[in-house]
Amino acid sequence: MELLRDTILEVNLDNLEYNIKRMREIVGQDVAMAIVVKANGYGNGTRGIINTIIDGGADYLAVATLTEAIEIRRESKDCKVLVMAFTSDEYLEHVVKNNITQTIFSLRQAKIINDFSEKYNMKSTVHIKYDTGFNRLGFKHCEESLKEIEEIYKLPNLNVEGLFTHFSLKNKEEDDKQYNIFIEAIKELESRGITFKYKHISDSIASIIYPQYRMDMVRLGAIIYGIKGFSYGDVGMKQIFTFKTKISSIKKLSIGEGVGYDYMWQAERESLIATLPFGYADGFPRDLSNGKGFVTIRGQRAPITGLICMDQCMVDVTDIEGVMDGDEVIIYGDGENNTIDIHGVSLLVKTNKNEIISRIGLRVPRVYIRDNKIVNIINYI
Ligand SMILES: *Cc1c(COP(=O)(O)O)cnc(C)c1O
Repeated sequence: MELLRDTILEVNLDNLEYNIKRMREIVGQDVAMAIVVKANGYGNGTRGIINTIIDGGADYLAVATLTEAIEIRRESKDCKVLVMAFTSDEYLEHVVKNNITQTIFSLRQAKIINDFSEKYNMKSTVHIKYDTGFNRLGFKHCEESLKEIEEIYKLPNLNVEGLFTHFSLKNKEEDDKQYNIFIEAIKELESRGITFKYKHISDSIASIIYPQYRMDMVRLGAIIYGIKGFSYGDVGMKQIFTFKTKISSIKKLSIGEGVGYDYMWQAERESLIATLPFGYADGFPRDLSNGKGFVTIRGQRAPITGLICMDQCMVDVTDIEGVMDGDEVIIYGDGENNTIDIHGVSLLVKTNKNEIISRIGLRVPRVYIRDNKIVNIINYI
């Protein structure tokens, strides 16, 4: 637990716990919560946050890949882990051996998991993905699919625990259509004696804007991390992370001097330029170069000057009184005190919020805070 770099992602575990408990208040006791920790917990470091998530009352942890599920298994032997995306046939033995709930949408894969479960003398839990229009993964809505699901349900070493689908969130009308297709399939299956403990359709946004569609379980990602600026407005979540660093060096420039590659920025007045120890290799968008982006130092905005380098960037601190080497720099804050939040960054570079937070690199140590004290540090490199 040693810190060896100034550029860190600070993760506030008190806020994470608060958000999970707040979501529990919102969805109630009768709806299970699958907390989505794919993409390294949306950048926050899965290993560093899962215990808080489990203790906070999550019923399931959900990820995209088998590798992510196995990472969780190394930390926790008995929590429930759902792989929501596809796992190739050749890896399915690992799904079984690690007691992971795999999403399937073919009889072929169901049989493979069933056979391995027999080999290891156990029952494996699976969720079936049903495609109601997104056209990504899942059984197409048709009688043939329902027949296959019936076959899957009969396999002796499978516990078919869930059936789920995913909203495209195009608009209320389309989402209603998807929901109605899902309900039609569920009713048809139920009439054949096929039932599921968890039927689920809603992600963060849908869980808030469509309380009527929470069904048995909601799959909560972004909202748990307190990423702000969703179309559902403010539901009282607290952002859990701050991307920060410290000034490496400050230089005084005369009029006409350039900064960085191509001297892309040139001093139009006597300027103070601070060099910061992070760059695009840490996941900071290079598109924010030369005045498009800014960081926050002593509560004031410092615009990026010149091109962002791989490992460093320069900012104009001329107007920041008392600025010094070693000053704290907020790269992504919560939007308060002149900081830019993830929503703000995503608007500047024309992408979505999840992309910005999930691409913070593994070179950045994750530093975990509880009661204002550092309780854990993860160095991936
Ligand atoms: C990522 C993902 C979620 C969570 O999405 P958020 O918008 O972050 O809540 C839910 N369901 C599936 C299938 C996903 O892939």
